[in-house]
Amino acid sequence: MANSFGISTVIAKPTKFCNASCTYCSAPPEVNGAPKWSLDDWKFYFDRLHPYMADQAMILWHGGEPMLMGADWYRKACAYGRSVKPGIVFSMQTNILAYETGRWKDVFAEEFGGSISTSFDPDEIHREFKGSASLYSKIFNKRLDAMLKDGFRPKVIGTYTEETIDLAMTMYDRSAALGDSAFDLRINYRYPAGRDSGRGEMLMPVTYGRKLIEIYDRWISETPSFVITPLDEMLKKVMGLEAMRCPWTRHCGGQFLGLEPNGDVYNCSEFADLGDEDYRFGNLREQTVPQLLMAKVAVATRRRRFDVPEDCKSCRHFAECEGGCMRDAVLYGKGLGGKFHYCQSWKMVFDRIKQSVVSGEADRAIEKYGLDPDNVRKRLGPFPAAA
Ligand code: SF4
Ligand code: SF4
Repeated sequence: MANSFGISTVIAKPTKFCNASCTYCSAPPEVNGAPKWSLDDWKFYFDRLHPYMADQAMILWHGGEPMLMGADWYRKACAYGRSVKPGIVFSMQTNILAYETGRWKDVFAEEFGGSISTSFDPDEIHREFKGSASLYSKIFNKRLDAMLKDGFRPKVIGTYTEETIDLAMTMYDRSAALGDSAFDLRINYRYPAGRDSGRGEMLMPVTYGRKLIEIYDRWISETPSFVITPLDEMLKKVMGLEAMRCPWTRHCGGQFLGLEPNGDVYNCSEFADLGDEDYRFGNLREQTVPQLLMAKVAVATRRRRFDVPEDCKSCRHFAECEGGCMRDAVLYGKGLGGKFHYCQSWKMVFDRIKQSVVSGEADRAIEKYGLDPDNVRKRLGPFPAAA
């Protein structure tokens, strides 16, 4: 029987241990570290969670480095999850350094449906393996090649600063050179959490917006076989294809949950990375899900759906942006109902996307999603000039 509970995504961290050491790690082992979960730990947490999860909810394995749990652990953990809730899906965010075809290919394909995201920064300075950035790159590149050969198309996430943002285009070149075997990309701004706490803004919103537009223009003109997040998700929102997608949702409160290795629960792993007790809902070992969701801070996160800044409500992009991410508002000192720090970037990019839809420049990109560009234009209506 379908249930009416709404947790759609659980970001589960079975360990904070990691085989790499990145200077800017947002979720370092020293924060909320705990022994790796046993299978019984997972079963305990899952038994408490599942009655409140949507039937098709997603569990995103995260860490630390989640592959350190071993392939067999995931076989058993996913099998248990599905035995209780057959519709749930699994995904993993991993540095892939431990990937080996013989051990992992089947798990990635059968348990996670190939849904894997990983991280790589083309400056090749801040990610280290055994103290060496070049060794990290060497192993990562080898593992990525093996995964591509095995037929996976992982999403490769890079985090960029004012100094490195130009390198985002080199990742586009690298993926484009692979033709039909290209991997997906995600271009993120580096943010001051975890080991980078207190560093403030590292990429200016205007720089980020400009680079995203430069990449968007190339992407819609070449329409390669890969997608680039956040541009793909933003285009989907403009086309009316996606509704509840992080970070373009003000409804994540009560629908997402981040579960730390020690059982601590936050709205999402991004909130956990703040390392701020004020945003902790409680602990799943000691409390039930309804108790956690009734915590004062949990109630406050659910208020974001109404409590967005006034100028967001009248913004020309409110339907798509929804006021941005509240974790970012908190991170940059604006509080749970405050302004999203990268508002300016989103405004610039949504303006450009809508303009390209109206002008017809995005037609081929729209058709790739199986939609008729004329219908998308009609849906969008007359788009006012950027203010
Ligand atoms: S707070 Fe931000 S990062 Fe966390 S789930 Fe909501 S939109 Fe996503
Ligand atoms: S673009 Fe900026 S003003 Fe508009 S809804 Fe998003 S955060 Fe608010």
